[in-house]
Amino acid sequence: MIKIESGKKFIDQFGADNVASSLALELGCKVEKLPIKYLGLPIGATSRCASVWDEVIQRMESKLAAWKKKFLNKAGRLVLIKSCLASLPVYFLSLIHMPVEDNVSFKLNNGKYIRFWLDEWSSLGKLKERFAVIYKACRNKTASVAEMVVDGSLVCDTRRRLTAAEQLEWDMLCNALGPVHSLNEEEDEVDILGAFSVKKCYEAQVQEVEEDCNFHKYLWRKNIPSKVSFMLWDNFHGSLPTRSMLQHRRVEIEDVQCLFCKEHEETADHMFIHCQYAFEVWSYFTKDFKISWIFPSTVERLFEMWSFNVLNGRCKEVWWKMIYAVLWHLWKERNSRAFGGREMDV
Ligand SMILES: [Zn+2]
Repeated sequence: MIKIESGKKFIDQFGADNVASSLALELGCKVEKLPIKYLGLPIGATSRCASVWDEVIQRMESKLAAWKKKFLNKAGRLVLIKSCLASLPVYFLSLIHMPVEDNVSFKLNNGKYIRFWLDEWSSLGKLKERFAVIYKACRNKTASVAEMVVDGSLVCDTRRRLTAAEQLEWDMLCNALGPVHSLNEEEDEVDILGAFSVKKCYEAQVQEVEEDCNFHKYLWRKNIPSKVSFMLWDNFHGSLPTRSMLQHRRVEIEDVQCLFCKEHEETADHMFIHCQYAFEVWSYFTKDFKISWIFPSTVERLFEMWSFNVLNGRCKEVWWKMIYAVLWHLWKERNSRAFGGREMDV
């Protein structure tokens, strides 16, 4: 393969060393060795080698340079993560598989898919490394666990009689493993943790989040400005800086009273739902929908209640936009009052 790059010629060699060097001499170009870089991807690199991924980490680091912290708001960071950081490893994955060995865990069932010596399936670590002498002597280095078990006990298949040292190590191994009687009919489970499959990792995380708190589905919706999503995120995580919450965190504040009614403690649920001011705002907007509803106890319940409706099409769309708009309005109005702004009537 000949590559011409800004006037310089390189010859890339795949195998045939002598041919490449004589050709290079003939054509007057330099010989370049693998891996080479093409469109930012390392061609010909050993994909099992973890160092290939150093580049991705470096690129990530440069994208996350410290100065950006100062200038990016939350929404900007979200865009950076979604559009840039997430696509970096995906682009690499289009060519190179991630090395998985360090991220894999095994559950032994029928023993057919787990390699006895090479996989880390027992608490002893990799048997190949721990019992190197006997590993060297055995015939089938890639044998599965099932292949090593004959009539319920471990058997080491070797070309010749074992030496005393090998026999000792084999006995030690059998002793340490104990009887391998846990083999059953089911297929072995290989669990790839962490980064190997971006999709799997993502799904696992989403599932976890949804199990914990299913309000996440209300957060990152299309057409909802990210500032609103962030406010709700804070609320659902109990970190919306209301006066009550600030006091709870031992921030010194004058009083914890609601900025709207000046009667009750300002919690998020009070400010968004129970306060007289909030009630009037909600009533004003919902009256046209002819939907009667009782006031829920929390913002989470409010979202759940909001989804019980028989609206369709455009009406439903407006209905959903309203909940975000009202919540955002209340929060903005509250902040403008907190920081000495003009008070707006309902
Ligand atoms: Zn109030």
